[in-house]
Amino acid sequence: MKKLILFIMGPQGSGKDTQADLLSKEYKIPTISAGGLLRAEVKRGTELGKEIDSYISKGYIVPTRIIYNLLMEEIKKESCKNGFILNGYPRNTEQAEMIKGKIEPTAVILLNIPDEIAISRITHRRICPKCGKVFIVKNNKPEYCDVCHVKLVKREDDKEEIVKKRLKLYHEKTEPLKEIYKDKLEIIDGTKTIREVFEEIKSRVEKRIEGEK
Ligand SMILES: [Zn+2]
Repeated sequence: MKKLILFIMGPQGSGKDTQADLLSKEYKIPTISAGGLLRAEVKRGTELGKEIDSYISKGYIVPTRIIYNLLMEEIKKESCKNGFILNGYPRNTEQAEMIKGKIEPTAVILLNIPDEIAISRITHRRICPKCGKVFIVKNNKPEYCDVCHVKLVKREDDKEEIVKKRLKLYHEKTEPLKEIYKDKLEIIDGTKTIREVFEEIKSRVEKRIEGEK
């Protein structure tokens, strides 16, 4: 059987982490993200991990080459033998060029949502400072974590100005990938419910799998 390789893209607030998790369970393939790879390496405490940590703690961007090398190592692992999901990577044309011919996606899933909805979803997001559970508040409810009973907080990153900046960056840097992957692209309406979005992605992926046989 051919490896199932899915790329999942979309702006912040499009639900791509949730969908990546669901797809990972459905197809029993791991999800890989640049952030996850970097955090794992830092945790291992290797020389490279220390280097990465120094970039992150100084607020610098980790060089593209480092992420690329970690990714190429990761996909050789036994856990990726049936395939994998790349969540939020590649993020720009430079990263896409680097993996060209090395990682060929079965499908590239783009979760599309208008900026206003992304902003609304993110600015209504609250997090439990104790357990990390995420809540969407409506009319300031809920106020407390239902597990820990501590007051929910808004992440610094979820403030409107920061969200707007990131959306701008997404439109400028990530959206041009639509052209690069146009033959594999599946544009999905991300405004629907989690279940509806998931069913739609699945049906597109199944078609791609069929098409490859
Ligand atoms: Zn909690």
